[in-house]
Amino acid sequence: MKAVVTGGAGFIGSHLCDHLIAHGHEVLVLDDLSTGSETNLEQLSGNPDFELVKGSILDKTLVRDVISECDTVFHLAAAVGVHTIVDKPLQSLRTNLHGTENVVEAAAARGARFLVASTSEVYGKNDTDGLTEDADRILGSPLKSRWSYAAAKGLDELVAYVYGEETGLPCVITRFFNIVGPRQTGRYGMVVPRFVGQALAGEPITVYGDGTQRRCFGSVFDIIPAVVKLMETPAAYNRAVNLGGLEEVTIRGLAERVVELTGSSSRIEYVSYEDAYGEGYEDMQRRMPDTALAGGLIGYKPQRRLDDIIGSIIEHKRAESPSPQVVVA
Ligand code: UDP
Repeated sequence: MKAVVTGGAGFIGSHLCDHLIAHGHEVLVLDDLSTGSETNLEQLSGNPDFELVKGSILDKTLVRDVISECDTVFHLAAAVGVHTIVDKPLQSLRTNLHGTENVVEAAAARGARFLVASTSEVYGKNDTDGLTEDADRILGSPLKSRWSYAAAKGLDELVAYVYGEETGLPCVITRFFNIVGPRQTGRYGMVVPRFVGQALAGEPITVYGDGTQRRCFGSVFDIIPAVVKLMETPAAYNRAVNLGGLEEVTIRGLAERVVELTGSSSRIEYVSYEDAYGEGYEDMQRRMPDTALAGGLIGYKPQRRLDDIIGSIIEHKRAESPSPQVVVA
């Protein structure tokens, strides 16, 4: 495989690069390093099968150039994290809409296989127990910037799907449900690295709302082999596939697990949504994937338990900053 990974310097992208290189593939990363970092890829620097191109997916010529010699495109670049989306709505929209269009267009022109990373956010406020891929979207007002990520990712899916239908582009749409693991930063919202960072620093653990909202955290190490397998499975083309974990936890319960596993003396502090994200923020009460489709297509079965996932993040953060006074990422 000669693969291009957009967003390859990010959390999920860098693990994908590690996996592809370890399996003998050639990898070219296109990343503007806005939320990703070169540190995530330092283990690959100097590898003759690996190259990092620093640039934006909004640069159409660059995108075409980078994709011109590959056979597979994993499109993971996006403006991510609730704080990014709420603080920079226009920039996020541009990246997530026009960026994807540029990448899918170049992949189609090249005749490369294409995968776009989508998100459980596309289900919006639908909190059905076990969301299947054909579940309805329940989105709030399009004028609330909070929903712009869900709106843009929904359109990304549609653009990829229509390209697939009209041009025969082999395309896979993966919907990630709260994927977490080492290298993920809490700087832009993601709750697990935030809580771990806070616990290691002895700072209050900031639970937003009353903490009864529930999530199902999936391990990056479970989903990476699945992403690659889906790309190699024609039955997965031109459809959306959920990927995530199966162990559900309340956010309050997560905070308690993090405190226990770090041995921290941090207390839990409840923060209103308004103070956390600004006025009018709407959180999803529950988001739980049904992964039967991935199970049927590629035998997907998440293996990692929540405690192990949290443990791997604690280990990574401790290694990053060995002193007991760790600054929150
Ligand atoms: N959250 C929290 N404290 C934080 C960051 C997030 O309580 O410091 C909550 C957030 O409101 C949501 C859940 O944790 O209910 C998961 O947030 P994240 O941004 O990781 O993912 P989301 O599911 O919102 O996409």
